[in-house]
Amino acid sequence: MLARWPSATGPMGSTTVSLIGSTGSIGTQAVEVVQASDGRFEVVALAAHGSIDLLAEQAHALRPALVAIGEPALAPKLAELVPPGTEVVSGPEGLAAAATAAEVVLNGVVGFAGLPVTLAALGAGRRLALANKESLVAGAPVVQQARATPGAEIVPVDSEHCAVHQCLASVASVDQVARLLLTASGGPFRGRDPASLAEVTVEDALVHPTWKMGPKITVDSSTLMNKGLEVIEAHELFGLDYDRIEVVVHPQSIVHSMVELVDGATLAQLSGPDMRLPIGYALGYPERLPVAFSPVDWGRPVELTFERPDRRAFGCLELAYRAGRAGGGAPAWLNAANEVAVAAFLAGRIGWLAIAEVVAETLDAFDGAPIDSVDAVLEADRAARARASQAVARRAG
Ligand code: MG
Repeated sequence: MLARWPSATGPMGSTTVSLIGSTGSIGTQAVEVVQASDGRFEVVALAAHGSIDLLAEQAHALRPALVAIGEPALAPKLAELVPPGTEVVSGPEGLAAAATAAEVVLNGVVGFAGLPVTLAALGAGRRLALANKESLVAGAPVVQQARATPGAEIVPVDSEHCAVHQCLASVASVDQVARLLLTASGGPFRGRDPASLAEVTVEDALVHPTWKMGPKITVDSSTLMNKGLEVIEAHELFGLDYDRIEVVVHPQSIVHSMVELVDGATLAQLSGPDMRLPIGYALGYPERLPVAFSPVDWGRPVELTFERPDRRAFGCLELAYRAGRAGGGAPAWLNAANEVAVAAFLAGRIGWLAIAEVVAETLDAFDGAPIDSVDAVLEADRAARARASQAVARRAG
């Protein structure tokens, strides 16, 4: 099956790309990047979970050879909507085919569901433009094995890690890094009294001060769990121990992260809060796209401020450090519990403060089982979801 869509250089030296999760927030911005890049990329595969109308619209605009839909029941309808001659595939196998069809694979799937895409792309020796941090966090031991496949490479799309990736390009070895400073906007509840956070609504949590993103990551930003997952992501991507990964709140979201070196120098990457830049960086790496997305306007006053996160109000950050340091299956439990808790919060079943409570309670029940296979990752995810669902049910009343 895989041999039918070989990794190939497209016409006129363009790079072939697969956009997985193409109808989501990252995916639609990736389409904009491709369209702005003047033939530099040839989209050979598109994939989405269930949004067939937008997926078909993208297929007409980009003319990929292959279109994959996660929900198999939607495949016949999709086949009617795409241009004649487009191959339509579905289900996990279809997504895997899309995830191995190109030289560069963007994983823009939301949540743990992105793990098969990450594993398929790396296992086929592709460059993975990774926007799906949950697959790396939860499946780290098996993702690291797949990453060792010849030709496989992860270029992070997550803006903080993309910034660190750029900074590290001028650093000879990881020994020269004193610490990574991951910046956080602080989310909509920065500076709030912890007691006042009991009453926040879904609408409050979905208003992000600087970034426009999907609902799951926006809620994660409001709890700082997003930053917690990013601490684990940074540990896995760059191989630094947790004592050398710190979080600093930077409300303007212009400095996307920093690397402090052993000689006291600090490197940083700056730009406006616009995901099209890291998406373009990851798709084009090691080349830079000659298209500027939201450069900083230095002609007017630019204020850059930094402060420590309030670890009392935002317990999820501490929980993530705890899970990361425990290693093994603990990050998978953390991630699964958080996905369950965030879904319950978005559905109006639990309050905002209960997200951290559900995650803490679930993590307390972590059975310590190691993760050495994909099945073990799936089992850890399943067990943690069951525990977290109980914790939600007790609170939902
Ligand atoms: Mg980020």
